[in-house]
Amino acid sequence: MSNQCCDGDLHPDSPEFQGYLRSLKKIDFELAYLAMLTREGIKPLSRWEKPLVDEGLELLQRIDLLTRQVQRTVKTGKEVVETIFSRTPACIRLYEKTFGNTPIDKSARTQQFEGFLFGYPPCCVNHYIRKPYAPNNLTDREQKILFHWACRDCKVTPTLLPAYKNAYDLLERC
Ligand SMILES: [Zn+2]
Repeated sequence: MSNQCCDGDLHPDSPEFQGYLRSLKKIDFELAYLAMLTREGIKPLSRWEKPLVDEGLELLQRIDLLTRQVQRTVKTGKEVVETIFSRTPACIRLYEKTFGNTPIDKSARTQQFEGFLFGYPPCCVNHYIRKPYAPNNLTDREQKILFHWACRDCKVTPTLLPAYKNAYDLLERC
């Protein structure tokens, strides 16, 4: 596994990159989408909560993402493994230091910190904590391609949407 913050040798339009994306897509569309958004830097870090085969980890690394598997526990005490990926070593370290070997929790503080790492606008995170899934002005399609629930009249989400749309469309085509 490479620990270097890569220079991005692979261009997203290159056949090689598209090939890796297609393979990720075969494992899971959402995994490939998160990988793409994180590779592009739209999300500083992403978390995959389902089990991931070694091939998946390898593919993420091939597209210049740093990966780490983090042990957590759920309420029952059962251990779960999360996979996190990022282009930024500091984000990986922050996540590991904050959440490694800790129980999964949904406190406001946790949601705010996760929001920061996952690239969610703070206005949306805070609104969601107060009132989850409150109506907003997005279309169903726009809301569907996001990982955060946009706040009403959000000033940040509309500026993020084109980048999300590009990544989603590219993935659907590849
Ligand atoms: Zn917002």
